[in-house]
Amino acid sequence: MNGEDISAHRGASGPKVAIIGGGAIGLAIGWRLATAGARVDLFERAEPGRGASWAAAGMLAADLEVEPGEERLHELNRESVQRWSDFAAELEAAAGFDVELRREGTIALALTADEASELRHRGEFQQSLGIDLEWLSGAELRRREPRLAPGIATAAFSPRDLQVNNRRLVAALDTAFRRAGGRLHRQTEISAVAISGSRIGGVVAGQSLHGADAVVLAAGAWSRAIAGIPREALPPVRPIKGQMLALRMNPDAPLIRHVIWAPGVYLVPRRHGSLILGATVEERGFDRALTAGGMLSLLHAAWRVLPDIAELAIEESWTGFRPGSPDDAPILGPSGIDGLVLATGHHRNGILLTPITADEICRCVLSGEPSEIIRPFGIERFRPKTIRQPNMKAPSPNLSPEARGISWHDEVERPLSPPGRGTG
Ligand code: FAD
Repeated sequence: MNGEDISAHRGASGPKVAIIGGGAIGLAIGWRLATAGARVDLFERAEPGRGASWAAAGMLAADLEVEPGEERLHELNRESVQRWSDFAAELEAAAGFDVELRREGTIALALTADEASELRHRGEFQQSLGIDLEWLSGAELRRREPRLAPGIATAAFSPRDLQVNNRRLVAALDTAFRRAGGRLHRQTEISAVAISGSRIGGVVAGQSLHGADAVVLAAGAWSRAIAGIPREALPPVRPIKGQMLALRMNPDAPLIRHVIWAPGVYLVPRRHGSLILGATVEERGFDRALTAGGMLSLLHAAWRVLPDIAELAIEESWTGFRPGSPDDAPILGPSGIDGLVLATGHHRNGILLTPITADEICRCVLSGEPSEIIRPFGIERFRPKTIRQPNMKAPSPNLSPEARGISWHDEVERPLSPPGRGTG
């Protein structure tokens, strides 16, 4: 196979595990499994960490993001954020460099009376969940962030939300995974999984079958494009496009220090002077186009709260694909096929959920059972809702849905969720 890392499985004698996908999720699971003594082969069709995990803003905003109906997901997110500090420290020690975990917290802003009433409404709901949220006076806001536009109607500070540099995160995971004895196959696409009876046998790359005791599907927004997975085990994941851009600040005099949320945009300052503006939320399949409208909406929304951005150079712009699921929560744990474990559908929270996904999927692979905390996020939650389109031909289980010409929403009852607010 191409790009094989030959520093293989040093001394490991545990189960043979194949991981499909080298984003933050696949790499972190691989690192945990290799550290626990498993013989891990991770297959990445391009370069590791260049999918959604590269495109993300790295906000770990469990508290400020939660909305009514997301209470259960908030518990998972909250637990993952709590694990972030230890996870980052362990990873930094394993990789030998830091991932820029920052703890300044997040400030949400409203400019108009309508926006203020929405922010108050959401904030009161968040406080009812026990979330630590502080309403800031105008003077207090200016003290914390003096460059913000004058006349901001309302501001709420969420102290427990963190941020991490997600590009450093994936680089650190790549290093830590290989140092733990994991074998990384770059530029190696998995075309299919091999199943015999009701048990996983391995993965297929090119003409080669790579045998494994367990396979973890962590292919992000592309998780449905792998052949051989029976329909009922195929996670209902779809790409949700996000456009973003980065401006260049003077790192010695950054315009802001906190992560700022404003209507239609978030602003994330990085240590070395980048100011990330994100992100659109678009149902456009795998369309990579950067559009004038997308850039304009982000720049305009950011300029309303931080007018000094007008002077900054544009550093970079990009698109990425969140692995969305029908209820915006991840799909974690057993698939129904013995040995095939799912770790996908992390939507706008995959960086935030990396520590808990890595720990709990590692446990699940080694024990065969999902832990209590991930049990509510299994694929079964979509099964009772399965309906079949009356005029659909019965598809061959060996073809991917794309090859069969159907998309996930042919198979689940829920409608596509409407584009959400401009968050991760
Ligand atoms: P990916 O990083 O996409 O990795 C999947 C990998 O699988 C890719 O590298 C791909 O090449 C590989 N692959 C696919 N098919 C195959 C195959 N057949 N064989 C081999 N390899 C394959 N989350 C947060 O927590 N905070 C944020 O602030 C945030 N902001 C975001 C902003 C944007 C614009 C976007 C797009 C996402 C954001 N997210 C954020 C979400 C987060 O990025 C994702 O949830 C997370 O990165 C998903 O990780 P992953 O490893 O599952 O997917």
